[in-house]
Amino acid sequence: SWDGQEAEAQEKIFVTVRVRPMNAKEIAKNDSSDWECVNNTTIIYKNASTERSTYPNSYTFDRVYGYDSTTRQVYEEGIKRVALSALKGFNSSIFAYGQTSSGKTYTMTGVTQYAISDIFDHINNQDDREFVLKFSAIEIYNECVRDLLSADATPLRLLDDPVKGTVVDKLTEIHLEDWTHLMELLAVCEGQRKIGETSLNEMSSRSHQIIRLAVESSPSKFSGIDCASILTATVNFIDLAGSERASQTLSAGKRLKEGAHINRSLLTLGTVIRKLSKEPNGHIPYRDSKLTRILHNSLGGNAKTAIICTLSPAHTHLEQSRNTLLFAVCAK
Ligand code: ADP
Ligand code: MG
Repeated sequence: SWDGQEAEAQEKIFVTVRVRPMNAKEIAKNDSSDWECVNNTTIIYKNASTERSTYPNSYTFDRVYGYDSTTRQVYEEGIKRVALSALKGFNSSIFAYGQTSSGKTYTMTGVTQYAISDIFDHINNQDDREFVLKFSAIEIYNECVRDLLSADATPLRLLDDPVKGTVVDKLTEIHLEDWTHLMELLAVCEGQRKIGETSLNEMSSRSHQIIRLAVESSPSKFSGIDCASILTATVNFIDLAGSERASQTLSAGKRLKEGAHINRSLLTLGTVIRKLSKEPNGHIPYRDSKLTRILHNSLGGNAKTAIICTLSPAHTHLEQSRNTLLFAVCAK
């Protein structure tokens, strides 16, 4: 059971940082690039010698990726192991964390597709077990949980199941057939995401998106094992709300409410991750937000976790980049 899992030794969270290239706007404004990856685990702040600051100027993580990295590389060097652990029966979560426009969606879109493609390859080449893949997709906006595979925008409830833990009531789960089917479902999700008052970017800066793949397997009829030992594991690909939402105070009315709620899921995630990393046997406040409730079974315990922290290289974004790096430091 999921309670039993929590008693077992906790594996460290795999933490990586990726800096995107300067974009055309930043180049046009003559913005300077702040960060340099001096090897594959260390990133440094380049202007340290000219400034006084209380922030560290050098950071070490499991992997760091500069502007010339590819998403394939980010995936192969660590994220892959975490995602494919679902094939061995372990739940897992892969997060993209960073300020808006730092590259979360860019990175997570690629990583999700590489991982599911590898899962297809694996299950098509295995004779002794039979696999069923179930796809679902969730958006958390303003602490409301929404089914991205349904046109019905009614918020879904979270229920506490004595065996499964927290489940999203009435969430659509679709038997995933093949690659073409996956592309169709991802397009449906994209279409269902709310268009905010101002722009798609504005909306995605406020909402969390979770793509979940449940991997169910049982011994095949060729394996000689006739007991129905079914393994189920879920891999979650999480494109988080912009990390500036964890600090920014928004103006009156609805915007303030949304800001406060997004703070709750992001801030609670921060607390949960920090506690899992520093004091895993203490109380972990999963229940304090929708995001952490939904991910409870896939965070901590026997679950595998990876976090990709995305940074803008531009000096204009220095403060947010430092906040993102502090989050990454707390996670490792
Ligand atoms: P976020 O989801 O964090 O708001 P996006 O993933 O939408 O940010 O990225 C913002 C812009 O930067 C997009 O146009 C995206 O294509 C581009 N971008 C992000 N990361 C990279 C990268 N590593 N290489 C090239 N372009 C990138
Ligand atoms: Mg995005």
